[in-house]
Order: sequence, then C-alpha cells, then structure tokens
Amino acid sequence: MHYRSLGNTGLEVSVLSYGASPLGGVFGNIDEAEGIRTVHTALDHGINFIDVSPYYGDTKAESVLGRALAGVSRDRYYLATKAGQYGQEEFDFSAARVTRSLDESCARLGVDYIDLFQCHDIEFGDPAQILSETLPALVKLREAGRIGHIGITGLPLRALANVLDQVGPGVVETVLSFCRYELNDTALEGWLPYFESKGVGVINASPTGMGLLTPRGVRDWHPATPLMVETARQAVAFCAAEGIDIVKLAVQFCVAHPGIVTTLVGTSRPDNIEANIRYAEEPIDTAMIARVREILAPIHNHNFTRGLPINRDPIIPA
Ligand code: NAD
Repeated sequence: MHYRSLGNTGLEVSVLSYGASPLGGVFGNIDEAEGIRTVHTALDHGINFIDVSPYYGDTKAESVLGRALAGVSRDRYYLATKAGQYGQEEFDFSAARVTRSLDESCARLGVDYIDLFQCHDIEFGDPAQILSETLPALVKLREAGRIGHIGITGLPLRALANVLDQVGPGVVETVLSFCRYELNDTALEGWLPYFESKGVGVINASPTGMGLLTPRGVRDWHPATPLMVETARQAVAFCAAEGIDIVKLAVQFCVAHPGIVTTLVGTSRPDNIEANIRYAEEPIDTAMIARVREILAPIHNHNFTRGLPINRDPIIPA
C-alpha cells in the first residue's frame, strides 16, 4: 500500500481507503460479522483511513463500525465522520446540532476523538450558515482538541469552492468529492490546482460511481440517468467478455492520480476489499482503461447534480 500526505493535515493516508456506508445497509442488507471482517481485512492490508457518517443507514454504519473498531488499537487508523446530514431530506448545519453530533458519533464509534470531522454535503446547506455558524463551531471543537481536522463534502465541486473562497487559510483542511473522478467523469481533475492553491487535501469517493461501474450495477435509489446506466452496462459487459473485473480498472484509474490523495471505496465484503487492495497495488492496466473510457465517452462528465440551486454544478445531463 502506498501513502500520501492529506493536504497540510500531517496525516499520511493510504491511497485506497475504506468507506463504511455499506455497513449501514446502503447497498443492501449486510451480514454484520462479514462487515466487521471487512474492516479488519482493510486495516490488516494497510488501509489506515476510514470514512463514515451518521447519515449512512440512519446511524447504523457508525454503530457497526464502532463494533468493528472495538479492541483495535486507536493508532492503527484515522477516522473521519461527518455532521449536518441525518436523513434523505434531513439536514441541520446549526452550531448546536453539529456539536451534539460529534458526541453522538463518538459514542457510536467507541472513540473520544475524530481525526477528520466534515460538514456533510454542503450543497444542501445555506452557504451563509455554513460560513457563519457551522465552520466556527467545528473550529471550536478543533481548538478544544475534540477533533483533529475539518473538512467539507459534497457532489457539486463549485459548492466546495464557494466555501473555500470565503474562509481563511487552514479553516477547512480537506474536501471530499464523490463520483467526479471515476472512469466516466474526470471533472474533479480540473479543480485540483485550485484545491492545491487553498492548501486542502483532496479525498475522492466512489470509484465505481456508487455501484454504477460494477457487475451488479446501481441500486434503485441511484440518481444516474438511463443513458448513464445503459452505457455503464456496455462497459461492464465489455470487461466481462475480456475477462477483466471492471472494478479493478475503476480502482486503478483513481488511485493512480497523484493529485488525489486517497480514494474511498465502499463494501461490506472481505473478498471485495481484499480484491480492491490487490488492484490498487497491481500494475495499472492503462490499455484496458483507455478502451473502457472510449465506451464511456458518450456520458463523460455528464453526471448528475443536486443541492440548493445556488450550489449546483453546471452539468449537461446525459
Ligand atoms: P463505491 O463506488 O465505493 O461503490 C460501492 C459499491 O461497489 C458497493 O455496492 C460495493 O458492494 C461495490 N463494490 C466495491 N468493491 C467491489 C468489488 N471488488 N467487486 C464488486 N463490487 C464491489 O461507492 P460508495 O460506497 O458510495 O463510496 C465509497 C465511500 O465514500 C462511502 O462508503 C462513503 O464513506 C464515502 N462517500 C462519501 C460521500 C459524501 O460525503 N457525500 C458520498 C459518497 C461516498
């Protein structure tokens, strides 16, 4: 496993990291014992960064992750969780709520310190409140030593930049973007010089586009358009015919980018995380990646967007 520095946080994180949302049943029911073994397998193979949120499975992901981490030495992993999103339509970025959220998350996770505490999906928040209330509350928690670092997450890249444009240096230390650097979308790449200029570390989530680029495909909640789903199916079929796992290409494509510090992949199955770690370490299959990206060209960067109208990316839907 290779490691990279996460912006100016001082954290050296594995280039492939573990996203715990599947532990909350986000991608279907899970076997908890398997889910716990998945976390241990990730740590045993060099993953040292884990991301979760109270939102995933209505707090279930944090609870299962907490049970997985019980007894694991606290210096073996960096733990990231979030505050502000609690349900599909339930957001509360008030200072009081995010402060209480930290205590609740720590209790579920069985820890007293969070390495990276993130505002979850700021595109659903009023930017004025995020700037004047949420981030100052997180700064207080950082000053009190309850959290190590502060991050923001979201789908529209413009929304992340809008916040970074208006805060002082070092207030926000990381951004987490998802579905914007994967085989069918490289929009995040264009923003990397900007994020670097702001001194923030870039976390990329969802290398398979939340299941789009997997043999099983998307769940019914997935916001992909029919053309995205159909084009992704063609890429999956092509890989299957060539005897290649499309997830291998999806993981390799993301971890190979030196400007992306780490890529969070989610699964509740030990065999999947083991395969993903192996893929991250094997020589990159550039020829197959190029062929698959050709198949995906009709939907390139035609992703979905969401959030308050002022926070949305200008996207041409496929
Ligand atoms: P992902 O692209 O990692 O895909 C997860 C899906 O891929 C699951 O269905 C999983 O079973 C499947 N999968 C994983 N490895 C596989 C393999 N080897 N073979 C077959 N299928 C495989 O999407 P994700 O889980 O949404 O993203 C990863 C993590 O990133 C999340 O768990 C979460 O921690 C984080 N994330 C954060 C945000 C945010 O903050 N707004 C948004 C999205 C994701």
